[in-house]
Amino acid sequence: MLIDSHCHIDFPGLLAREQEVLDAMAANGVGRAICVSVKLEDFPRVLGFAERHPVYWASVGVHPDNTGVEEPDVARLCQLADHPRVVAIGETGLDYHWHKDAPEWQRERFRTHIRAAKTCGKPLIIHTRDAAADTMRILGEEDAAVCGGVMHCFTESRAVAEAALALGFYISFSGIVTFKNASALKEVAAWVPLERLLIETDAPYLAPIPHRGKLNEPAWVRHVAETLASLRGVPLATIEEATTENFFRLFRHAHA
Ligand SMILES: [Zn+2]
Ligand SMILES: [Zn+2]
Repeated sequence: MLIDSHCHIDFPGLLAREQEVLDAMAANGVGRAICVSVKLEDFPRVLGFAERHPVYWASVGVHPDNTGVEEPDVARLCQLADHPRVVAIGETGLDYHWHKDAPEWQRERFRTHIRAAKTCGKPLIIHTRDAAADTMRILGEEDAAVCGGVMHCFTESRAVAEAALALGFYISFSGIVTFKNASALKEVAAWVPLERLLIETDAPYLAPIPHRGKLNEPAWVRHVAETLASLRGVPLATIEEATTENFFRLFRHAHA
């Protein structure tokens, strides 16, 4: 069984194809996925997927890009996370690509999520874009090693991967690793220790080759796994077994 550690099946496009998405997962041997929350207003919809279908779990959090949304505090995040189908806090982190002024509120929101994860004992799903130095600094300052987590949709350097691994974090690769122009990332993906590797789609975004440009879906995490297998010179089964075992070790509230 393959597991998509990060997708947004409640977003427009996938939301209306609930059964088709499930059928395609089954046809591709993708047995589980986490539906990741990006704002509290949508959390009931995210949790709904996890309550309707045993193949899904949910996370709770507010994406660093989102403005004009309910601002979470530790108590609110922990209250929403106190549900057997909620296995992680996030996605959270820093994004200076869409917020080039690097606003202080992003770092405060990020710290709130880390404190919530440590309080409720669930791991973090980290988003970082053009902000690796601050992301790693804050993870260290807030002692995020206590709750652990995953660097989702990893596109950073080997040095950043090493810093994340030193904190006990996992590294998750998306369809970007299948792209022809991603040679530096492919090198990192070939190097990350097998016992810290995860796979994801970030659907509906970032469809892997050979579906690049289309609406992505969890079934296509298979192409990410196949690419990792070929980059590392191992059978697909090796990637499948390791990433699934890693998934359940990190997301310890998820039960197969
Ligand atoms: Zn993200
Ligand atoms: Zn995402």
